[in-house]
Amino acid sequence: NIEDLFETPEERKKKEAEARAIAAKSERERIQEGRRQLPVHPYRDALLEAVEAHQILIIVAETGAGKTTQVPQYLHEAGYSAAGKIGCTQPRRVAAMSVAARVAHEMGVKLGNEVGYSIRFEDCTSDKTILKYMTDGMLLREFLSEPDLASYSVMMIDEAHERTLHTDVLFGLVKDIARFRPDLKLLISSATLDAEKFSEYFDYAPIFKVPGRRYPVDIYFTKAPEADYIDASVQAVMRIHVLEPEGDVLVFLTGQEEIEAVEELLRQRMRGKGTQLAEMIICPIYANLPSELQAKIFEPTPPGARKVVLATNIAETSLTIDGIKYVVDPGFAKQNSYNPRTGMESLVVTPVSKASANQRAGRAGRTSAGKCFRLYTAHSFENEMEDNTVPEIQRTNLGNVVLMLKSLGIHDLMNFDFMDPPPAETLLRALEQLYALGALNDKGELTKLGRRMAEFPLDPMLAKTLIASETYKVSEQIATVCAMVSVGSSIFYRPKDKAVFADNAHKNFSRGGVGDHIALMSVYDGWAESNFSTQWCFENYVQVRSMKRARDIRDQLVGLMERVEIEMVGDSSEHDSIRKAIASGFFYHTARLQKDGSYRTIKNPQSVHLHPSSSLLQLLPRWVVYHELVLTSKEFMRTVSEIKPEWLVEIAPHYYNKKDIMEDAKKMPKGNKGRAALDAAGVE
Ligand code: ADP
Ligand code: MG
Repeated sequence: NIEDLFETPEERKKKEAEARAIAAKSERERIQEGRRQLPVHPYRDALLEAVEAHQILIIVAETGAGKTTQVPQYLHEAGYSAAGKIGCTQPRRVAAMSVAARVAHEMGVKLGNEVGYSIRFEDCTSDKTILKYMTDGMLLREFLSEPDLASYSVMMIDEAHERTLHTDVLFGLVKDIARFRPDLKLLISSATLDAEKFSEYFDYAPIFKVPGRRYPVDIYFTKAPEADYIDASVQAVMRIHVLEPEGDVLVFLTGQEEIEAVEELLRQRMRGKGTQLAEMIICPIYANLPSELQAKIFEPTPPGARKVVLATNIAETSLTIDGIKYVVDPGFAKQNSYNPRTGMESLVVTPVSKASANQRAGRAGRTSAGKCFRLYTAHSFENEMEDNTVPEIQRTNLGNVVLMLKSLGIHDLMNFDFMDPPPAETLLRALEQLYALGALNDKGELTKLGRRMAEFPLDPMLAKTLIASETYKVSEQIATVCAMVSVGSSIFYRPKDKAVFADNAHKNFSRGGVGDHIALMSVYDGWAESNFSTQWCFENYVQVRSMKRARDIRDQLVGLMERVEIEMVGDSSEHDSIRKAIASGFFYHTARLQKDGSYRTIKNPQSVHLHPSSSLLQLLPRWVVYHELVLTSKEFMRTVSEIKPEWLVEIAPHYYNKKDIMEDAKKMPKGNKGRAALDAAGVE
């Protein structure tokens, strides 16, 4: 019978199922084998004993040892999850997502079930979740609804060495609850050896050290300073690719824009070199990269090819990528800096500290000996770079955190148990600003408005804007504006070879010339009208991913607005009302035109400039409100709208008085006429 010679469909299905089972089993075995290879593994039992014996434990192990992915699993395996969730905080959202995905994979469960993550505007957890990774900022928000963290049996404050603002505030809060929740286990984990400080702070909690395994890394400095580190990075990568033996490359850049620029330059250099050079696989990684693409950096490099990972300092300690042999370190990172005297806050590209530079170099020696190419001189390393990064709490605006602490009922902030207290001036500034926004009364107590503001996971100025939208009856529009500014600077797409088309498309959104906030709103409205079409994004040179994110954020904001009983109403043509609502939150961020075409902030005068991306560049309105300052070659105001000075007196009478503003107004150049004068003088 001829059919006997062939497989029946049943037989084939059975065989396939068997093959899948074997593959799954060997995959599971491979994963378990990999887990056993990690440096923390030999210390598993000792670690569990130490956790059992002490309420608070400091864990120190080098990056890549397995702290983040393994320790929560060990605790789960040892039964801690029976009494409550095991939480683990991460300073960065990408790390929280990526690590949760990895752990779900290792445990063979679906992400969002037993293992989940929670980051701002995205909750990927369920009732089943027992291992919860979250940003430090999200845990801080959880305190608002669960001040004793009752649903947790263990809390691990991870990457403690990063000393982010939120992590530092969490230290004070968890130290406090540990006192009245003796059943809660607290782990503080850090990649660097200054653990004594953590130990001391947590009443001399014991330190559990896991010895590192590191291979030697040769460090090279440049002979002379580099004028352009983007260019130098591209050169360095190409040189490695051409001259060095196999092994992947990790380049540290400061943000998405730089990463995209380097990616483009590398692609250009590789174009048409397919036969002469080995394949180069370029993998960017930064905060706003969609998760499908994030996973790409972990895929093994095929034999003969070379992976080049372009990363922000997320890859310094939060993420470990196997197979990196070469590190290219331009020596910079984006940091926020804050001047409490002027209230000016900006994101600045800053030289990293020696500690950071050494962490970066270490990434080359994890699995074998490696090389680190520093794009700065040995002299500047020795003499110009700080030893350690200043904790964020000492260089940032504290408005958000103060509002949160006040909502938690912590009134005496001057005596809050900070590991390194923020400058008193910064705390006072924050209190003053919250008072000016109406969130605190003159006794420093939270007002009803302040309580509503605290519901929003946003900067107090944005939260105030959202609530003010109620007064001006434009809540729908302001929800859109707030969502769009929360996405950041990645809305518009401007490929170099189509810059003219892109600029033209973008100009459509700012017709009427009233400002960037309304332009952003028009982008969103246009996309919504097209029924959220991807095609529409292509045609208008708008990043579809950013728009999807804006839509998610907007949905959540609307949910929160409903919770604080803001009625969703409004008309997109009410430009004045929209701008008044924005000014109600951002009256601190206002500036007036100067004769030379620059601007000066109104209170605490400082020179600032319109960002080259602003739609107001040609119009130079006399009075503007801006969303944020970015310091590159100068202080640039990003996302700017025109306002009328009398609004300021109407909106914030306790902050601006009529006389000041009107007198100032007399001395000012006259808007567009001023523009003509400037054009004549050749001022851009
Ligand atoms: P630590 O927190 O001590 O720095 P991790 O627990 O983050 O270490 O990482 C341990 C190891 O797990 C890494 O060395 C890496 O090999 C592996 N790993 C972590 N995340 C991923 C991932 N998303 N994909 C593949 N491997 C990963
Ligand atoms: Mg880690």
